[in-house]
Amino acid sequence: MKRLFVVGTGPGDPKFLTEEARKAIAQSEFVAGFPLYLDLIRDLLEGKETFTAPMGKELERCRAALEAAQAGKTAALVCSGDAGIYGLAGLALELAPEYGGVEVELIPGLTAALSCAALLGSPLTNDFAVVSLSDLLTPWDLIEKRLSGAAAAGFVLCLYNPGSRGRKGHLERACGIVLRHRDARSVCGVVRNAGREGQSLLVTTLGELRSITADMFTTIFIGNEATKNIGGKMVTSRGYAWAGHCTPPVNRRVKNEG
Ligand code: SAH
Repeated sequence: MKRLFVVGTGPGDPKFLTEEARKAIAQSEFVAGFPLYLDLIRDLLEGKETFTAPMGKELERCRAALEAAQAGKTAALVCSGDAGIYGLAGLALELAPEYGGVEVELIPGLTAALSCAALLGSPLTNDFAVVSLSDLLTPWDLIEKRLSGAAAAGFVLCLYNPGSRGRKGHLERACGIVLRHRDARSVCGVVRNAGREGQSLLVTTLGELRSITADMFTTIFIGNEATKNIGGKMVTSRGYAWAGHCTPPVNRRVKNEG
């Protein structure tokens, strides 16, 4: 069987790889990916043929992996975090029909929202929305519309791709939109390089977040009215602590009678 594994490698350090991801990479003779991501798992790549292509060359990476698979090599296309979240899983599946006989197998990974949230505390305990601020493939108007809708609906927000050298000012604009719906004192979190060298965290407020410079290794969290700063941890309350006190008397009576 001609096989392409599309593998999410988690935030960085190979200790965050799932066992399934590790096995898929071990089985592969050919591994394609963004240079940094292959570098992060270089110990697993000994003796394997590798293909890297820089940012903007996603199609090349994907095609190289599919071609290798079609040529009969067991191949892996690796992405950071989860390959299905702002990664190449969709593209691999879209292109696969051109490479008859290649079966694509998707291996999930620990996405940045989850690895970064655990470092901050528990910001995503309740409903949340994930928005990418990259307008390379999505028009900025649409990003603003989604952000505004999610902010208005009260979701905790998790922002991927908050900035890069070529995209400055996006985070500031995003904060401006959220501030129309949310208090400037709302608790926010910033995580850079989770699970990698140079990992750093910051718990701050929405008012302060506006003036932060975020790069492409940063994930941002914007809390809602249930989010608190508890001793430096960003925590969204789900209500467990007060749930028992909120039962309407009429329900309580019915329950007791039953
Ligand atoms: N497929 C990846 C996301 C790729 S988009 C995943 O599931 O995690 C790239 C964005 O992901 C970055 O701009 C940043 O917002 C976030 N990101 C990825 N790895 C990260 C890390 N180790 N630390 C903080 N943010 C990260």
